[in-house]
This record gives sequence, structure tokens and C-alpha cells, in this order.
Amino acid sequence: MTKRLYHENSYIREFKATIISCTPYDNNYALILDKTYFYPEGGGQPSDSGTIDNWEVLNVIEEEGQMLHIIAQELNHKNVECKIDWNRRYDLMQQHTGQHILSHCFLELFNGKTDSFHLGDNSVSIEININDFDHNRCNIIEDMANEIIYSNLPISAIIVHEEELQKFPLRKQPSVKDQIRIVKIGDIDYSPCGGTHVMNTGEVGIIKIIRWEKLKESYRFEFLCGGRALKDYRYKNTLLLSLCARFSVKDYDLDKVLIKLADENKTLRKDNAYLKRSLIKYEAEELYNQGEVIQNTKIIKWIFKGRKIDEIKLLATEITSHPRTISLLGAINDTAQIVFSRSDDVDIDINLLLKTVLPIVDGKGGGSSKTAQGGGNATQNLDNLIEKAYNLVLSKI
Ligand SMILES: [Zn+2]
Repeated sequence: MTKRLYHENSYIREFKATIISCTPYDNNYALILDKTYFYPEGGGQPSDSGTIDNWEVLNVIEEEGQMLHIIAQELNHKNVECKIDWNRRYDLMQQHTGQHILSHCFLELFNGKTDSFHLGDNSVSIEININDFDHNRCNIIEDMANEIIYSNLPISAIIVHEEELQKFPLRKQPSVKDQIRIVKIGDIDYSPCGGTHVMNTGEVGIIKIIRWEKLKESYRFEFLCGGRALKDYRYKNTLLLSLCARFSVKDYDLDKVLIKLADENKTLRKDNAYLKRSLIKYEAEELYNQGEVIQNTKIIKWIFKGRKIDEIKLLATEITSHPRTISLLGAINDTAQIVFSRSDDVDIDINLLLKTVLPIVDGKGGGSSKTAQGGGNATQNLDNLIEKAYNLVLSKI
């Protein structure tokens, strides 16, 4: 069985090993070594990456007690040089150790037990079994977690048997029964864990909760430690400075300025909608006045170019607010669009009228007996469609 040396020293970045076997695995090869410092995926933590004889280690997985190093190449020789992607490993150790500290603080301060932990390449989250949380609690817990970091407590691991467990004030119960590995932070936190950790809490650098959401019976927290927190701070500071420059304000005033702008925008939109409606009414009157009166019924037909369908619908509504009116409007946009309407006192089925003429523009659409809307791709035939509809109206009134 492969010796798991990452448990003995999680700071080794390069090592030599001997190949025990190399067998096909899916479309790649699974390499078993006599010993390894590569951490396999598990316990909410992804596997290490790196190289074996310069071949990229695609994944490290544990199957039936064996550690499989997945690579794309079959290796037939015996001795190999292994390198762990140290930046990634150190990042994962910072986040993982940070989780131990944060879980400890949640339990101490709010009696919140950690239900689950997820450590990905981009996000770290824990689910804590508590009912309430707010910004004040967030500050309290961050203060405590960062105090533990400043105290630079040593982190170590011991292997114990099940009967020895009662000697330790464990934060959670182990999932294995034999050879239980307990990770100790100073003498404040004891937790069974098979992952990789930094040697002192100071190496975690900083812990910052960046967001949380309420679940059914718990809260999920996303947080960042060490290098990830610095990267996030850089990004947010750059964003803040750029926004402050854009609006010519100091950072503490930015939210007030943005709220004011949003309010102004809302008012302007409202005013704009009112003005648009007034203009539409005016335009509708002009169109109405240009209509022909036939058999005591006013018929308005018009084709617009590049006009929004919503505006055409409003025009149709305004025009047919006059008694004994029929409005046949079309627009050439990317496609041909049509809006037919009538006033309440005209006895014509507008939906039927539209459906009769729509094939002229290869169109589809429908509506009620009073108003209907459609569209089609044959824009060049829109004139014909409106004329055909007009003639049908003439034959029915
Ligand atoms: Zn751990």
C-alpha cells in the first residue's frame, strides 16, 4: 500500500518514488507509487496537482485503499521524480486550516455545528447549523477567528485508536474507527481530519467571510483565507477606485451617490414614459385625422419603418379610442410587424382579418376580435398585406 507521506510532512514539494504499477484508467493511466506526498481528493478538499516525470497529474484519487495518480501517459520505467504544484497546495492548506478555525469559532460563539465543508479552486464554503446571523455576528466571529491567526498557534496531528478518543475534547466525531487522525490547533480545537494543514495559524494570514445565505435549517458561508483574501481585496479595491474615479467621489460617499443616481433614473424613466405617452396621443390624433371615412367608419392604415412594436400598440389603442374606427398599422423592423385594432362599436372580427392576410408575409400571430398582432419575414410584402386587409374591411362594413 502507498505510504501517505503528506500526513507526515505537508511542506514537501518534490520527491522521488518507485512505480508499483501503471494500468489503463478510462482514457488515461493510473499510477500507483510506493509512497506519495500528493493529497487525494476527499473530505471536501480537491486533490493536489503537479507532475510525475514532467507528466501532468490530472487527478489523485483513492480507490479501495490504493492511491491512483492519473496521468495521460503510460510509464514503464521504475523511478520517477514527482513535483507538487506548491502554490495550489499552499492555497488549499490555508483555506482548509481556515475552515478549522472558523468552525471552531462558530461552535464556541453561537453553538453552531459545521454540517458540511466545500473547498473548490474558486470558492470555499461551510454550512453551519444556526438559526440567525447578521453583520454584527459576522464581525464578532471574524474578530475571534483572526485573533486565533494573530496568536500563531501551532497545528499538529496525532494518530489515536478509538478507545483513546475520550481523552480529547473533539469538535466533531470521526468517520473512521481505526487509526484516527486528530488535528490539533494549539489546545483550543481538536478535530478528526485527514486533510493537509499549515503548521501555525499565522500562516492562514486572514479569514474573511464574504457572503452568506440562509438555508432551511442552517446558513451557508462563503469565506476566503490568506492569498485568496488578498486577491479578492485587490480586485475589490481596484473596482472601488475605478467607480470612485468614474463618479468623482470618495469611497465612503459612493453608495450615497449611486442611490441618488438610481432614484434620479427612476424619476427620469417615469417622466420619459409620461412624455412618450403624450407624444403618442398627439401622433395618434394626426393619424386619425388622415384616415378615410367610409360607410360612417374611419379607416386608418399606415406603415412605419424602424418603430418599436410597443409604441405601435399604444398608437393603435389611442386611435381606436375614437368611435367607429379601424386601425391597420404595420412596421418594417428586422421583420414585418402588424397591429390591427377596432373600436368597440365596429362589427369586424380583427383576429380573423389578421389571420386571413398573415400568409402574405409568411407570418404568424393572433389576438382577440378587437385587437390582434402578428409578424412575418417577408417584409417586402407588407404593403400588399395592409392593402388586402383594407379591401377586406371595405367589403365588410
Ligand atoms: Zn482538516
